[in-house]
Amino acid sequence: RCGFVAIVGRPNVGKSTLLNHILGQKLAITSRKPQTTRHNMLGIKTEGAVQAIYVDTPGLHASAGKALNRQMNKNAQSALKDVDVVIFVLDRLHWTEQDQAVAERLKTLPCPLLLAINKTDRLEDKSRLISHMAFLAGELPKAEILPISALKAEGIAQLERRIGELL
Ligand code: GDP
Ligand code: MG
Repeated sequence: RCGFVAIVGRPNVGKSTLLNHILGQKLAITSRKPQTTRHNMLGIKTEGAVQAIYVDTPGLHASAGKALNRQMNKNAQSALKDVDVVIFVLDRLHWTEQDQAVAERLKTLPCPLLLAINKTDRLEDKSRLISHMAFLAGELPKAEILPISALKAEGIAQLERRIGELL
């Protein structure tokens, strides 16, 4: 099995840290799959019979208000339709307008969505995690929520296992 996995989220939430843990190292790849031209290719991981191609989606996080960015955003939106799994990375309980904007774009996607609540090693108030997960489930009802720490490599194995099952 082989598929494309998009990693999305606002800057500084830990996307690169997560990817570095998954891949061990960054790789430049080429692929004959048509999706290749629609994404920045970040790396590829093969494990057993499963091959996951990690991509980001140029333009997704550009500020939507600027007219200049509108076409770019449209392109990003259609590019996202071209992936098999989306990982939306969040920083603990810090839900911002930017996260909300990304969530709006993800709502309409047909593919499975994994919500990775990152940096749980530095969670200020653990007792609020459950209610925050309930809030997120309200925002993105179809998403699966997985608390992780990319830095401490906690929850990454579970995340990768789910990706393997979904591809
Ligand atoms: P990106 O902009 O989304 O790619 O975020 P980065 O991967 O560059 O991470 C931004 C900052 O957050 C860096 O200083 C990372 O070391 C830190 N960071 C990433 N993941 C974690 C985590 O799980 N726990 C903690 N405490 N810090 C993290
Ligand atoms: Mg990064």
